Amino acid sequence: MGPFKLTEQQANNFIAKVEKTPSGCWEWSGCRNRQGYGQVRLGRGCAHGTHRIVFFSIKPETSRSLHVCHSCDNPSCVNPDHLFAGTRVDNMRDMALKARGNTAKLTADDISEIRRSAGKSSQLAKQFGVTAGQINKIKRGEHHKNLTVRHRGERTTPRPNENPHDLCV
Ligand SMILES: [Zn+2]
Repeated sequence: MGPFKLTEQQANNFIAKVEKTPSGCWEWSGCRNRQGYGQVRLGRGCAHGTHRIVFFSIKPETSRSLHVCHSCDNPSCVNPDHLFAGTRVDNMRDMALKARGNTAKLTADDISEIRRSAGKSSQLAKQFGVTAGQINKIKRGEHHKNLTVRHRGERTTPRPNENPHDLCV
């Protein structure tokens, strides 16, 4: 498959749905899929990831079999500076490193303390050095999907994400 070829009309419609945010991310304000990736339909074909359209339009020589990843972890972002191509293995390594970075400070004791606490997520996030979203996940019991919990004195072993396709497409 060659590069994406957008008509002028399609390109204008595309640009109209991109919002540049102060964080530097260019967020897609149109349709998103379940994982938060922007989706757009070109002609009568199936929906394409907006980050992939941007990336392959700018770097048409890149193999379309590669994944397009976000350095900013914002799936709806289409800022070319925040996108990089990687293999499935690169993705898994990237996800594992990110997971490790996010959780290095959390122990099993911390997790139970977070669960018992009635404090605000934002306060707990500051206290434990993680994001409020992660605190909410821990409270809902979903942390095992994204967090690697280590017990005191144990080394953290990054666990490759089980389904990189969901996170990086
Ligand atoms: Zn971004």
